[in-house]
Parts: sequence; C-alpha cells; structure tokens
Amino acid sequence: MGSDSNNKGGLIDNGRSHLSSGRRWVIKIGSALLTDDGTRLNAEGIQGWVAQIVALRSQGVQPILVSSGAIAAGMTRLGWASRPKAEHELQVAAAVGQMGLSQTWQSAFAEHGIETAQVLLTHADLSNRQRYLNARSALNSMMGLGVIPVVNENDCVVTDEIRFGDNDTLGALVVNLVEADALILLTDQDGLYTADPRKHPDAVLVDQRKASDPALDAMAGESKGRLGRGGMFTKLRAARLAARSGARTVIAGGRIERVVERLHQGDPLGTLLLPDEERTVARKRWLAGHLQMKGKLTLDAGAVRALRQSGSSLLPVGVCSVDGTFKRGEMVVCVDSQGREVARGLVNYSSEEVVKVLGLPSQQMASVLGFTGEPELVHRDNMVMV
Ligand code: GLU
Repeated sequence: MGSDSNNKGGLIDNGRSHLSSGRRWVIKIGSALLTDDGTRLNAEGIQGWVAQIVALRSQGVQPILVSSGAIAAGMTRLGWASRPKAEHELQVAAAVGQMGLSQTWQSAFAEHGIETAQVLLTHADLSNRQRYLNARSALNSMMGLGVIPVVNENDCVVTDEIRFGDNDTLGALVVNLVEADALILLTDQDGLYTADPRKHPDAVLVDQRKASDPALDAMAGESKGRLGRGGMFTKLRAARLAARSGARTVIAGGRIERVVERLHQGDPLGTLLLPDEERTVARKRWLAGHLQMKGKLTLDAGAVRALRQSGSSLLPVGVCSVDGTFKRGEMVVCVDSQGREVARGLVNYSSEEVVKVLGLPSQQMASVLGFTGEPELVHRDNMVMV
C-alpha cells in the first residue's frame, strides 16, 4: 500500500471510518466498466453494482448514480469500432446509447423493486442559478421518494465548448449540488498510483491524501481512458471540486468484489482524497462569501426564534416585509424587526412572488401563486446564520 507522508490533521485520521457515516453518496461508474472495455453494455456488471447500491441504501445511504457509457454503448449498437471525431456522430452515439443504458439500469433496479429516474444535465443547468435550484430540488425530491437518480451529461445537445467534458467533473458538481458526503469514482484501475502503473511497474497505490496535496498532480499525469473522456487527471480535479463542499472522494476499482459496500464498511480500498475542511464549514463559507446580496426579508420574532433555536427553514408566514428585487436562487439577507442581520440564504421565490405570499401559511402559496413550489422561502440547507 502506498506510503502516506501526508498523514496529519484530524480529517486524515478518521478518513475511512468517516465514510461509514456518510448519508449521501454520488457513485460514478466509467465507460470502460459499463461497456466491458467497449465491447458491449456490461449487463452482468450493472446487476452487480445495482446489488451493491441496493445494499448501501439499506444501510441508510441515499445513492445517486452518475453513469457514463452512453457514447460507448451507442458505438457498439451502431457497429462503430472507434470513437467518432465529428460532433454530430458523437451526439448520435450518445442518444442511441443512452436508451440502452437507462433501460439496463432501470430493469436491474426494478428487480429489487426500486424506481430509477433518468437525469440528463448540461453545463447551463448548473451555471444558471434558477436551473441549479430546480435540478437540486428535483434530485432531492427523487431521493426523498426513494427513487435513485441516474445522471449523465446530456451529450446530445452539447458541443465541446459547453460540456462538462467528463463525468468525473459532472459527478463532483452533483456532489456540490446535493451536498453529498462522498464521491465514489469507480474505474478500471485500483486507484491512484504514485506513477502510471502501465509504464512504471514499481508504482504503488496511494492510500489516502488530502485532495489539495500538490504532489498528486505529477502522479495523476495526463492519463486518459480510451473509451470515456476521463482519466486520473480528471478524477483528481473532480476530487478537488468535491472537496470544496467538504466531500470525500474515493477512486477505486469497480471490478473489486463488493467494492461499494466494503468502502462503506471502511475497508481501505482504492485512494481516498480528503477535503481540507468539513462539509458544513465549507458550505457556510461558500454561502457567506461568494454571493452578492440582492434583497432583504424582515422577519417577525417567531421566525427569528425558529431559525435560531430550532434550526428551521424560513416559511412565508414569518416574513413581514420584502425589500429589493431578486430572482429565485439569489441571495437575500434576513433581518429582525430592528434591522439586525439574522441569516442569509438562497431564496426559492422571486421578490414579486414573495410579496404575494408574505405572512401566509405555506399551504396557501400554491393558490396565490398559481403553481406549487417549495413550502420554504429559504431552505435551511441554503442558509447560514449570522
Ligand atoms: N457522458 C459520456 C457518456 O455517457 C461519458 C463522459 C466520460 O466518459 O466521462 O458516454
């Protein structure tokens, strides 16, 4: 096992055991695994991962799957031996392959009585704040209903300039989106090695490091998979992105027996990449520092108490007045009747909509607004207390 010169700090010490207590995991499976190295869609493999994910779920973890393999599966269905270069051909391969991919996941989970949902995202969905919140609330609702989201990039409508590029990055962004505790990158190698093991037989597997460790860059190199877009380089970058919201990443061999379940038990498989700070700290820093304040909500005393003492979300019933013009997803400050700042957070409704529902119980919002949205004006998860 690789030496761990970076073994300092609390996070490193409890790195593996901490995985066992994670409640939400994003599991990304790469094209080489899903298509049996590009020969065909690996239905038996998929059944095996599904059984592991089902077992994980029975341990109380909410799994989200990020599944690559659409383009590779499409290539085999279309009888194309090598990955096409032309954008329109890639789009066709993705669209053809995505059908079989979804179907295979769907029927494998159905054997266990579990519903799946196909979620195809593009960069625009996560960079636009409203769509970001929409995607977030859709994923949260699916998980709340026990449905397992199966996410991929919407390869049919993206071009090179506007794509995530690889599903490692997409997985990390989904981690940030739903505030997952862990990103599990399953691949055809056992983890990150100190050098490319195909060229350096003496390379050893890295056990655990901080994702930010600069020494990792040279180890990840520029290696690329043959079928998908990712490689160790994109996996390391994804781990760093996931670390920004305090999540741990494991890069592990997807063919290792019961790899997902064993990682959950704390077995030292693959390479664990740790964040510099815990999830809540990372999230609060992001909320506190990064966004421009667009409006102000003045709360009554009951709402201030509920926020401070019960850790509740902000409901319209507790809001007395609104200032400023804002859209769904923008940052607002919440103040008490004396104008003292209580909290700040991302608002679920525009200022025009908030004006209409001020002081109302959440159940009346739908009839006033003409649509059913979230019952909270600002959800607790999107709020920091000041
Ligand atoms: N979205 C691509 C596909 O499903 C895979 C991207 C990747 O390989 O990371 O084919």
